[in-house]
Amino acid sequence: MINNSLKELSAALAAKKISSRELTQAFLDRIAQLNPVLNAFITVDAEKSLAQADAADKRIGQGQAGPLTGIPIAQKDIFCAKGWRTTCGSKILANFTAPYDAQVIERFDAAGAVNLGKTNMDEFAMGSSNETSHFGPVKNPWDPLAVPGGSSGGSAAAVAARLAPAATGTDTGGSIRQPAALTGISGIKPTYGVVSRYGMIAFASSLDQGGPMAKSAEDCALLLNTMAGFDTRDSTSLDRPPEDYTRDLAQPLKGLKIGLPKEYFAEGLAPDVAQAVETALAEYKKLGAQTVEVSLPNTQLSIPVYYVLAPAEASSNLSRYDGVRYGYRAPEYTDLMDMYKKTRAQGFGAEVKRRILIGTYVLSAGYYDAYYLKAQKLRRLIAQDFTEAFKQCDVIMGPTAPTTAFNLGEKSDDPVSMYLSDIYTIAVNLAGLPGMSIPAGFGANGRPVGLQIIGNYFAEAKMLNVAHQYQLATDWHLRAPQVV
Ligand code: GLN
Repeated sequence: MINNSLKELSAALAAKKISSRELTQAFLDRIAQLNPVLNAFITVDAEKSLAQADAADKRIGQGQAGPLTGIPIAQKDIFCAKGWRTTCGSKILANFTAPYDAQVIERFDAAGAVNLGKTNMDEFAMGSSNETSHFGPVKNPWDPLAVPGGSSGGSAAAVAARLAPAATGTDTGGSIRQPAALTGISGIKPTYGVVSRYGMIAFASSLDQGGPMAKSAEDCALLLNTMAGFDTRDSTSLDRPPEDYTRDLAQPLKGLKIGLPKEYFAEGLAPDVAQAVETALAEYKKLGAQTVEVSLPNTQLSIPVYYVLAPAEASSNLSRYDGVRYGYRAPEYTDLMDMYKKTRAQGFGAEVKRRILIGTYVLSAGYYDAYYLKAQKLRRLIAQDFTEAFKQCDVIMGPTAPTTAFNLGEKSDDPVSMYLSDIYTIAVNLAGLPGMSIPAGFGANGRPVGLQIIGNYFAEAKMLNVAHQYQLATDWHLRAPQVV
């Protein structure tokens, strides 16, 4: 059962082969057994989850179930969930109980899904390894020496280790796709504006986007059907008619044009990752696709541009944590100014402080034009590269990350090398495009490799089709780690 797809679980619930309470309890038991090793969850509240499961069972009994009714879903601890502790991986929010639901949580509730608990993450979603969490690092279920990726590393590890049938993530520069790749699961970052950011704790608002993480593309499509939707409370939410993201899953791929950016297959790409991606591309050719070389000439600029813009937005967004309204407050201080300083000095971790410092610097008078404005202009050029490339192809493919999962501690003292793990994912956020990662084999060390699929704006259904057809022909997505 722990390996079943969402569709299978939904059918079992509908046929009363299992109740939502039993299903939820089974995953809670796995969490109790394996979370002490993996550290994938920050908060578990069995009573709350089981109450939701009972409500779902009632709904199923009344014949009012939808596709996700009764299914337990792990929520990244960046989504506010009413009555649940919501920490964003930070000490500064370690004692914060959300007084309201994020739109994403509301939508899962309305669908009758069960909140299985809040997953570990890099502090304020800043990181690529889950090592910046105040609640300690998450272990990669494939190898306890390896990181699971970040920042949605808890969600990724939970799904990979079958502690949850599915989870949510957020992706500002790669945080759904990179951990999905490093743990051998599927995840999609939708077009910017498709999933509401209301109640999703802000890191870099012009880049942040929520999305599903699951065992397969088909599961992701079902989850996205629930997560996506217009929200008047998010000014960047897009008012578009609702879509069924499963609608194109069965389409054959004959004639599909896959663009391969030459910059994504250049220096810095590990040979074993390159090999796995080549093998996946050969499979796509068997499915009737053809490949064409494209160019994204400004790829090298995406990391420097991101590390001006994201910290700038973060420095502004994180100014709200001042010890006055909610969250942590330093226990001892002399006056108001001293309270602010001590609260922020004690409440934020090193990576968050680094971002606040960079962001404050690039936004300060005298430097604004040289850094922030310049980065905004380059962001436009990066987006234009994709517009040009999509004139020649339907989807773009390449590696999700340059290497398989690295070891815990390997990059934690070297921020630049850590930042480079997002070299293939960050430009997608800067452009606002949808991107996904699906498992495509294993590297030399037995750790998973992710294949990235990038689509044009609003091409989620197409991307999910492209991913699903590959998953019908291969079984990488069915492989699960042996967790002890
Ligand atoms: N690793 C990137 C960062 O640290 C992206 C994180 C994310 O997507 N949330 O900013």
